[in-house]
Amino acid sequence: MSLHSDRTGFSDKKRTPRQRMKDRLDAIAARRAKGKVIAPVTTGPEKFDPFPVTFGYREPGPYAYGYHTGEDHACPIGSQCQATSYGHVVGIDIWGESYGKHLVIRTADGKYDYGYCHMSHIRLSIGDHVTPGEPVGQSGDTGNTTGPHVHFEARTAGGHYGDDVNPINVKAHR
Ligand SMILES: [Zn+2]
Repeated sequence: MSLHSDRTGFSDKKRTPRQRMKDRLDAIAARRAKGKVIAPVTTGPEKFDPFPVTFGYREPGPYAYGYHTGEDHACPIGSQCQATSYGHVVGIDIWGESYGKHLVIRTADGKYDYGYCHMSHIRLSIGDHVTPGEPVGQSGDTGNTTGPHVHFEARTAGGHYGDDVNPINVKAHR
């Protein structure tokens, strides 16, 4: 095999699950950079993503189902969490203690719930409606964590642990 074919002979079959995962995360990051989706945590009103994913959705890990059910964004305590999609608040601290202080929002189409976990402060109440980019609270380090971050998770509406879906489904496309 020539060096040339080594360099250019990319085949999806040859790529490991981790590499394919990285490709997908990179594609999501690229869409975010174009402002087409809203990041769950930010430094201010801008819609770009100053805190990229530090541990991705469905990465293997020491969890009950063996994989990560959301995406983590490492960020300083007090960073602004913002709604990623139209919806309304359906729960506060309903997913279990390991998630710490957390806020759960149902998308306006009724299909999905999305949550911000390990927060320090929640500024909304049950039933409050949100628009994309609206501040919903502040990040923290509550529950089971190894450091300050936002765990952003999406589930089918009313879903429990294991009913996760890719968070990209609950990020508003602009
Ligand atoms: Zn996480």
